[in-house]
Amino acid sequence: MSRISILDRDRCQPKKCNYVCIEYCPGVRMEEDTITIDPKTKKPLMSEELCSGCGICTNRCPFQAVSIINLPEALEDPIHRYGQNMFELFGLPTIREESVVGMLGPNGIGKSTIIRILSGELKPNLGLYERESSWDDIINYFKGSQMQNYFKKLSDGELSVVHKPQMVDLLPKFIKGSVQDLLEGVNQRDALDDVKNVLELGSILDRDIKNLSGGELQRVAIAAAVLREADFYYFDEPTSWLDVRQRLNAVKVIRDLAESGKSVLVIEHDLAALDAISDYVHILYGEPGGYGVVSQLRGVRVGINTYINGFLREENVRFRKQPIIFEVRPPAAEVDTEELTEYTSLKKKFKDFSLDIKSGIVHHDEIITAFGPNGIGKTTFAKMLAGVAKPDSGKINKKVKVAYKPQYLTSDFSGSVQDLLITTAPNFGTNIFKTEIIRPFSLEELMDKEVQDLSGGELQRLSIALTLSQEADIYLFDEPTAFLDVEQRLKTARAVKRVVEGRNSASIIVDHDIVFIDYISDRAMVFYGEPGVEGHASAPKNLRSAMNQFLEDVGITFRRDKETKRPRVNKQGSYLDREQKEKGEYYYLDI
Ligand code: ADP
Ligand code: ADP
Ligand code: MG
Ligand code: MG
Repeated sequence: MSRISILDRDRCQPKKCNYVCIEYCPGVRMEEDTITIDPKTKKPLMSEELCSGCGICTNRCPFQAVSIINLPEALEDPIHRYGQNMFELFGLPTIREESVVGMLGPNGIGKSTIIRILSGELKPNLGLYERESSWDDIINYFKGSQMQNYFKKLSDGELSVVHKPQMVDLLPKFIKGSVQDLLEGVNQRDALDDVKNVLELGSILDRDIKNLSGGELQRVAIAAAVLREADFYYFDEPTSWLDVRQRLNAVKVIRDLAESGKSVLVIEHDLAALDAISDYVHILYGEPGGYGVVSQLRGVRVGINTYINGFLREENVRFRKQPIIFEVRPPAAEVDTEELTEYTSLKKKFKDFSLDIKSGIVHHDEIITAFGPNGIGKTTFAKMLAGVAKPDSGKINKKVKVAYKPQYLTSDFSGSVQDLLITTAPNFGTNIFKTEIIRPFSLEELMDKEVQDLSGGELQRLSIALTLSQEADIYLFDEPTAFLDVEQRLKTARAVKRVVEGRNSASIIVDHDIVFIDYISDRAMVFYGEPGVEGHASAPKNLRSAMNQFLEDVGITFRRDKETKRPRVNKQGSYLDREQKEKGEYYYLDI
């Protein structure tokens, strides 16, 4: 069995522990160079040839920085390894002409690495990180497969590839000027008018890139990618920051590429969007941060169902203990628990925007989701409930304590995650805190990291956890799924359910991920109106009527997968789409 050791360089702090890994390593005691000190970084280097896998360093390390991983037998010949004791990648996805191939897997499993390799930004080293591989080696490695020709052409500069990067918020650093100038400059496919309309960019064309919001940047980045002429198009997480309608518009322009003959690869964590965009799916599994494996290609329906079931039959790999269960609730389910609080109708006016919320009741033990387009007042509503903003008219019961996670996360806390938890989480250190908070959000692995250094997804997990750790009547979350992978979204949903039930409280959640909303909601409220101009919100009502109201507005229908019961977007104009629209059943169907 082959084995790799992984050192998390951010966590490793040899100055604080004085190299306990070296001190206790049996190999070093027998005067073998099993662990040495890297002269450059001063961090330990573990030799995988000499390591016996005893696990003593893993246990001794006070910062959980070392892991020793036994690789499944079948894994041989990596595509890339970032360096000694670093992440290793096995396999690459299949690329198909006239098709969209989706990639689905947890954060840290190598998805962005794959796109960087395929777009020629990262030259794969075939696991031999000590020297650079030649293109001949690489081409030879893929002999007889489709990728042989791909890398031959890539190395000769004969491939044209377009890559929409994951981090769109970095774009203003590299691109200056107006949206119009940018898009005209890349309009090689002469499709600007069409793309501009579908992605609803008309009103922001004159704006400077540096003044765009996250969702606007994402749509501009997608537009800039699809307007270019290329053979291969790679999209790394194209729906972050987008609302449901915008997600499906993005799906449309990206699918159009495939329909015009291009090969497209997409990384996506929103299962409804992934389902609507892909023809095929690759599931990635392994150990996040350690190694990642690309599973075989599956058709999109079977692929996503396989993911939901948590078991790869062909590979004989179980990556989750249980399947994700979607309950198709009885449509008329009314809440039978007691009233927790109510709010009157609420009004708020800004210079260009006015918001009007219908009065509503919140019950004990219920989870209410809130959805609607961007710019319609969801965050303003959340702020009023949380007491961060004051309504111009209307009242919220002040005696009800609200724990609130805002949409945009910033932290000026200087110190580690552990320091932050000690100072702000009331139950820190108790068993219940461990099971309710630490475990579902995998905070153990973040404890020694500086809060300032956390990635978007890590900060999101921490913020949700901190909110849930407060004693409150209502737990209020504004877009908690942003930057989280599917597993983390699921764990968040379970943790919220558990806390709400355990404490007899309630939760209100603003989000755009339909599959997540379906999984977590008891009831829902709909925001509608004209984004940026006026917003209205319904009272909380049952999910079926809320979805019907919302989806009628957006013009899409959902059916349920027969096997897993997950919601799936119907193709526009398909038989089911037309039939459901006629009946006014945009969401639930008897199946
Ligand atoms: P994903 O896109 O699936 O979230 P990535 O491909 O970004 O994952 O990263 C996979 C793993 O490789 C992560 O553990 C990450 O920390 C590591 N990694 C990414 N880039 C580098 C790099 N330049 N050097 C070392 N490790 C890296
Ligand atoms: P959502 O969360 O649904 O995307 P928001 O509540 O953030 O919407 O914003 C709704 C509208 O109100 C937007 O047009 C936004 O520009 C405007 N807005 C929000 N906060 C303010 C403010 N403090 N001053 C002026 N306008 C604001
Ligand atoms: Mg990534
Ligand atoms: Mg918002």
